[in-house]
Amino acid sequence: MMDKCSFCGRSKKEANMLIAGLEGHICDHCIEQAHSILNEELGSKKNLPFDTINLLKPTEIKNFLDQYVIGQDMAKKIISVAVYNHYKRLMQKLDADDIEIEKSNIILVGETGTGKTLLARTVAKMLHVPFTIVDATVLTEAGYVGEDIESLLTRLLQNADYDVKAAEKGIVFIDEIDKIARKGDNPSITRDVSGEGVQQGLLKLLEGSIVNVPPQGGRKHPEQKMIPVDTKNILFICGGAFEGIDKKIAQRLNTQIVGFGASKIREKVDKTNLLQYIAPQDLRSFGLIPEIIGRLPVLTHLNPLDKETLRAILTEPKNALVKQYIKLFRMDNIDLTFGEGVLDYIVDKAIEFKLGARGLRSICETIMLDAMFEMPSVDTNELEITIDYASRKLERINLKVLKAS
Ligand code: ADP
Repeated sequence: MMDKCSFCGRSKKEANMLIAGLEGHICDHCIEQAHSILNEELGSKKNLPFDTINLLKPTEIKNFLDQYVIGQDMAKKIISVAVYNHYKRLMQKLDADDIEIEKSNIILVGETGTGKTLLARTVAKMLHVPFTIVDATVLTEAGYVGEDIESLLTRLLQNADYDVKAAEKGIVFIDEIDKIARKGDNPSITRDVSGEGVQQGLLKLLEGSIVNVPPQGGRKHPEQKMIPVDTKNILFICGGAFEGIDKKIAQRLNTQIVGFGASKIREKVDKTNLLQYIAPQDLRSFGLIPEIIGRLPVLTHLNPLDKETLRAILTEPKNALVKQYIKLFRMDNIDLTFGEGVLDYIVDKAIEFKLGARGLRSICETIMLDAMFEMPSVDTNELEITIDYASRKLERINLKVLKAS
């Protein structure tokens, strides 16, 4: 009997290709058709997963974040609630009553290397909506060198496979938002290309409007066909170090705390971590325009990392550095151990040279490099990193240079 497609009946001659299965055949036409049906089905699920997905509760979201991000409980809690509410907003049906849940964009303030981006990335891991991280520093006002503000949404579109409906429910993390703060107190001295103009542009996105997005990013040019994207339901999470904002906070606290009992209150202020008292007006003193601040109603801070936190970062997260090295060596059948006090030594070095959490990695890499280079060719199955070993490796480099990385 002649081979035929079991789905459409095309013969081998009529089809370009006929693939044999256990009990029949399928032709290239039917494969393509099946593929597009599949795409359509899965695509529409991607669009509207909310009724079907098992929505994580805020405590569960936080538990998930806890596996990767050490400390920063306040920020984790706030993000967990915001993400949960974001899903609820997307599910809301407006016909029953007229109460509309508004979106609450978030702004995270914390020194560099305290986990802002890590938090955003970890959120992305568990999300069922398109997500992207973009950097505010590349943005400039339309007409100037740099990228147009709309290009913030290009990456989101790309991550949503250009499925506009899906992208319109996504989450965008804008890093280094502090870099578009107004530079001086007087905005009219010179044109502030990367400051107020960009903030005005960003405002449109945060407020919710239909924005024409260049599909390939970069700058708009006339030949490029734009994709209109409605930002009404996109959740924006902004992060920034806001260097020097502690002084603004201190000034405000000083002027606010006057009168009877002032000295008592002043004593209670924890001067080592002023960020915890951050309020919207501090962002304003720093140079964000009030309209932007108004569109970022959830304001929270990240704490500086102390010794214990840095120590925990080395060993506790699901993909902690120490776990990664142990795994790398195990692949070569080598049992890697860290001797007494070595991890504390590494943390002390990171603190001594003000390298923060990012520096932990550079320090570890420097210590481990020779071993990673040599051990796979040596006939041994054990390696213990001692303080002595670690300090010898670190001696060779100037730790200060790590700061730049
Ligand atoms: P930033 O606040 O500048 O965005 P990142 O999130 O990029 O800082 O942190 C830099 C690196 O430091 C992360 O990749 C992570 O390895 C580590 N790190 C920082 N903070 C934490 C934390 N709270 N828990 C675990 N790791 C952290």
